[in-house]
Amino acid sequence: LEAQVTQGQKMQAIGLLAGGIAHDFNNLLTAISGHCDLLLLRHDLHDPDYEDLVQIRQNAYRAAGLVGQLLSYSRRQTLKPERIDLPEVLADITHLLNRLVGERISLSVTHDPVIGAIRADRRHFEQIVVNLVVNARDAMPLGGTIRIETEAVALAEPLQRDRATVPVGDWSVIRVCDTGTGMSQEVMARIFEPFFTTKRPGEGTGLGLANVYGIVKQSGGFIFVDSTPGEGTCFTLYFPLHRGEEPRRAEAPAETAPPRI
Ligand code: ADP
Repeated sequence: LEAQVTQGQKMQAIGLLAGGIAHDFNNLLTAISGHCDLLLLRHDLHDPDYEDLVQIRQNAYRAAGLVGQLLSYSRRQTLKPERIDLPEVLADITHLLNRLVGERISLSVTHDPVIGAIRADRRHFEQIVVNLVVNARDAMPLGGTIRIETEAVALAEPLQRDRATVPVGDWSVIRVCDTGTGMSQEVMARIFEPFFTTKRPGEGTGLGLANVYGIVKQSGGFIFVDSTPGEGTCFTLYFPLHRGEEPRRAEAPAETAPPRI
């Protein structure tokens, strides 16, 4: 619990920070890229400064993208939680996910036939899956397999894990597993921290999993990670069922009429 509370406080701090400065920062970045555009207009393509200016503008755009991600922490008011049918929503983004992972990685999506709908902001939910899949891809530079699977889990007693307690009840679980590099204990302990990244500058912001964590918590869920260096990583997400959603029990096979003699 302690770990999750501290993480929550960090997220709140980052949210305040983001809300406060991101707006001004964005204006400054717009000014930088605007002035750059003007300079580029005045320079010939063969001017020795041309490429430098292009770099400045490109980085200003990248920085603006980063600010955009930061802002998503403080845009709580735009949250629109709705009923999310997992097979349906995942099917909708499978095409995008396949494009993101490329040809060297095979992606499979399988469902528990009795999986129940959850309640979350749809855009945020899609963001979670995209972030996890992009990380999985980045952990498999030589290719591999990503498995996304859902599972209806009925907890008869509280589940204690990583200093968190998942309460008794019905949960919809999503797992995203890869066959990538895996990670060390030291890395695993820090992955949900905002700005923690092991990627090269420009390749990782360290905001992906902090964002995922925040969204899962906002939805009343839990997130756990299992990882073995050299073998791969699995993220397991527990979501409460959508209000009024009856866990769909597997139906007993329909009785067939006895053969007539
Ligand atoms: P970023 O992807 O920008 O680095 P994240 O917060 O998404 O930021 O991830 C933080 C770090 O967690 C990554 O830099 C990486 O070290 C580690 N990580 C995340 N997902 C995986 C994964 N599937 N396999 C191995 N390492 C991972």
